[in-house]
Amino acid sequence: MCGIFAVVNDKTNNAAQTVLTGLKKLEYRGYDSWGIAIKPTDATSLQVDKHIGKIGEAETVLPEGKIAIGHTRWATHGGVTNNNAHPHLDCTGKLAVIHNGIVENYLEFKEELLKKGHKFSSETDTEVIAHLVEEKIKKQNLARAIFETFNSLVGSNAIGVIDFVSETIVACRNGSPLVVGVDEKNQQYFLGSDVPAFLQYTNKVHFLDDGEGVVLSKNNVKLFDLKTGQEKELKLQQLDWKLEDAEKAGYPHFLLKEINEQKQTILKTSLINKKEIEKIAGMIKKDYKIILTGCGTASYCALAGKYFLADAKIESQAYGAYEFSPFTKFCDDKTIVLGISQSGETADTLIALRLAKKQGAHIVAVVNARGSTMERLADTVIPVGAGPEIAVVTTKAFTSQLTVLYLLSQAVKNNYEEGQKQVKKLSEILYQWFNTNLEEKIVNLAKSLLNQEHIYLIGKHLNYPATLEFALKLKEASYLHAEPFAAGELKHGVITLIQKGTPCFVLASNDDIKGEILSSAAELKARGGRIIGIAPFDSTEFDEIIKTPDLADLTIFANIIVGQLLGYYLGVGRGADPDKPRNLAKSVTVK
Ligand code: GLU
Repeated sequence: MCGIFAVVNDKTNNAAQTVLTGLKKLEYRGYDSWGIAIKPTDATSLQVDKHIGKIGEAETVLPEGKIAIGHTRWATHGGVTNNNAHPHLDCTGKLAVIHNGIVENYLEFKEELLKKGHKFSSETDTEVIAHLVEEKIKKQNLARAIFETFNSLVGSNAIGVIDFVSETIVACRNGSPLVVGVDEKNQQYFLGSDVPAFLQYTNKVHFLDDGEGVVLSKNNVKLFDLKTGQEKELKLQQLDWKLEDAEKAGYPHFLLKEINEQKQTILKTSLINKKEIEKIAGMIKKDYKIILTGCGTASYCALAGKYFLADAKIESQAYGAYEFSPFTKFCDDKTIVLGISQSGETADTLIALRLAKKQGAHIVAVVNARGSTMERLADTVIPVGAGPEIAVVTTKAFTSQLTVLYLLSQAVKNNYEEGQKQVKKLSEILYQWFNTNLEEKIVNLAKSLLNQEHIYLIGKHLNYPATLEFALKLKEASYLHAEPFAAGELKHGVITLIQKGTPCFVLASNDDIKGEILSSAAELKARGGRIIGIAPFDSTEFDEIIKTPDLADLTIFANIIVGQLLGYYLGVGRGADPDKPRNLAKSVTVK
């Protein structure tokens, strides 16, 4: 996982600055270090500027020039050092490489290259690429040398190479995202891991497919098939994304902006994809087995989907994609496997889906980003339409995915329109409830929890996945140890952890198991726990409450939003960067 950005024909003649600005929009993809390589207007070799740490307010002193590449790193091989930051040069200083992924066979290459006298200046797997191209370029043209090198790499990778001599950038994709942007008016060409990086210049793009390469030169952009080396027609698509989508719009952080956007995005999601959702519902009614899978938040979404479907009298399975492989053998051509992912690039989920597809399963991609690997792999795509999500901690993409699963369960019950009405009602109520008054309450709650070491959370049935997600938001955004449990699990061991004053969150809805969850709350209270209810009703078992609207099954949306906001404010209060939590990357494209 990393951010790749490059420009050719920069019209400001300040390509390093353009790349720096673009990389800042991609920082959510990796923030161990960053670096830029430029061909300066007057120089005899490439010039590189690399730094460890977040790109944040960074500046670059690189000279003027029209062509540059840059990278934000999420280290996999080699520590977080200046030398290991990308781009990596070959021995001549005429080629520089940026890379997203892992070269699984890099050690064999490194050994050979060392024997041939190449000098390495980093511990990364990436650097072999620069030296391999340096070798091959002796015998063939640049593009071929790069394509051949790329084809010999094992693993999921995307690379960008800048060549000093021909003033071109060559990029290749196999498993890691790459998109080309063409600003026809100014004849500027861009390369990015994601569209927001260059959205201010153009919305005309081509998402590279696996096995495709591009050559960006002064005169044009050419697309190639990496295996045959043949040129292909470059068909550009125009996206309807607006620049504001990739900006903070007055909010201090993307995370807060995106939490707020749920007032619109949930409704928006409910108005699209009817045909696809009804198609899958139809298959389920024809006795297809259904499996839901994803990683992190998406796995909790899968689990919530399992409860929604049970309500529609459908038995399903939900797996964390990283634990799905032993069970893929039970998939066949009467199985639907629904993969959930914000980016559509989550390596573990892609692996699981490929295995299921091999068994003949019908793959459904419930994704937010467009042009992803998962979309291409899927038989049916359900794009949830929450718009670009920049904060690493997912919020609006999750509630949109949850909306899709709710509507799927309603469609199975032949109740699609009624389901849509319920989502509309949810949206209207959220709009009123989610106001400054609520935020004030949550800020005060956050203040009272700032110095806690441990928080425990319980929920039952639909509120169980909600509790898992609530706790994950606290952990990701604020680094607080927040441990979620199914309420029923409590008395089987967990209760030993509760002491006087231990904060215990109880997530509940106004449903027929309300009494049971309140009994669990009473058990926690009896051990001295400080009971904080997140529910649409008051109870004497709660010491404090954040009241959520009473929305039957959809109450969990509001319960989870409280967790998102609390995570955000705890993160700010504890000095974390809510948009870029330590050690995390937005989409995890490595196994
Ligand atoms: N494997 C490479 C490294 O550790 C690339 C990591 C990335 O995708 O950022 O430098």
